[in-house]
Amino acid sequence: MIVVPEKEIAGLLTRADAFDAVEKVFASMSKGSAYNFPVIREAIGYEDALYGFKGGFDNTGMALGLKAGGYWPNNLEKHGEINHQSTVFLFDPDTGKVKAMVGGNLLTALRTAAASSVSIKHLARKDAKVMGMVGAGHQATFQLRAALEQREFEKVIGWNYHPEMLPNIEKVADEAGVPFEAVELDGLVEADVVISITSTFAPTIMANHIAPGTHIACMGTDTKGKQEVEAALLAQTTVFTDEVAQSISIGEAQHAIAAGLIQQSDVNELGAVINGTHPGRTSDDEITLFDGTGVGLQDLAVASSIVDLAVEKGIATIVEF
Ligand code: NAD
Repeated sequence: MIVVPEKEIAGLLTRADAFDAVEKVFASMSKGSAYNFPVIREAIGYEDALYGFKGGFDNTGMALGLKAGGYWPNNLEKHGEINHQSTVFLFDPDTGKVKAMVGGNLLTALRTAAASSVSIKHLARKDAKVMGMVGAGHQATFQLRAALEQREFEKVIGWNYHPEMLPNIEKVADEAGVPFEAVELDGLVEADVVISITSTFAPTIMANHIAPGTHIACMGTDTKGKQEVEAALLAQTTVFTDEVAQSISIGEAQHAIAAGLIQQSDVNELGAVINGTHPGRTSDDEITLFDGTGVGLQDLAVASSIVDLAVEKGIATIVEF
C-alpha cells in the first residue's frame, strides 16, 4: 500500500493538477463511465462529530475507493487539530486490494477550488473582469486563488457575513496582484463571476444582487437545508452541477425544486459542457449557475494524481499489507 501523508500534499499537488483531475472526472461522470456511491453521513453521538464516507468508481481514470472523514467541532480547542478531518483510501479495481492511503484535508480544499474553477473556465464570459466573493472562511481563500487563474480579472470585490474575516480573501487578491474592495451585497452587481462559499442556512444572494451575464459558482451548500442563493434567482439562471442527484437533494437547487420553480430536467451536468454535449452559456446576458455539491469522485481523482506524483518523485512510502 502506498501512503502519502497530509504533510506531503502541499508540495506535491499543484492547482493545475487538481484542476485537470476534476475536469476529467466530471467529463467521465457525464459520459456514464464514472459514478458516485450513495453518501453516508452520521452524527456518531460522540464529540458532536459528523462522520461519513463518499465513494465511487471511475472506469476511465481507474479510481476506486472512498474518502472517510467528517467534522469534529471540538478538535481545535481540545486537541489543536483542525475540525475537518478526512483520509482517502484507493483500491485496485482489478483485485480489490487496498492500493493507497492519502491525507484528505488539503486535498478537499484543492478539489473544491478546482470544481468552481472548472465551472468558470467553461461557463463564465470570456471577457469577465470583476471577481466577486461571498465568503471569507477557510475554503474561500482556496476558491479565490484558483478562480483568479481562469480569466484576466482586474478587480476582486468581496462581502462576508462576518466582515472581520474579509482580510483573509484580501490577502489572496493582494498576493495575486489584483486590487480588492469590500462591498455591500448590492455591490455584487459589478461582478462578472461570483463564488459563494459559506455555511449559511438562509439565502444571502438575491436576484437584484446579480447582473445579467454573470456566472455564479455556489460552493457552500452541501447539506439539506443550507442555502446561499434565493430560489427565485436560481430559477432565472441556467443551472449546472457536478451531480444532478446531489444538486436537487442537498445542493443549492433543492430549494427551487421544493418550491416548484424548476424541475430536475432543468439541472444540467457541467461534465456535458466539458464533453461538448451541452452548449453551456449561449449568450452574454445569460446568468449561469454552478451548483457545486462536492462528490466523492473528485476526491478519488485528485488522490490518484497525488499517488502518481508521489511515486514519480520518489516520496511515496510503501507499506507491505
Ligand atoms: P468556514 O467555517 O471557514 O467559513 C464559513 C463561512 O461562512 C465564513 O465566510 C462565514 O462568515 C460564513 N457564514 C457563517 N454563518 C453565516 C451566515 N449565517 N450567513 C452568511 N454567511 C455565514 O468554512 P469553510 O471551510 O470555508 O466552508 C464553507 C462552506 O463550504 C461550508 O458550508 C462547507 O460545508 C462547504 N464546503 C463545500 C464543499 C463542496 O464540495 N461543495 C467542500 C468543502 C466545504
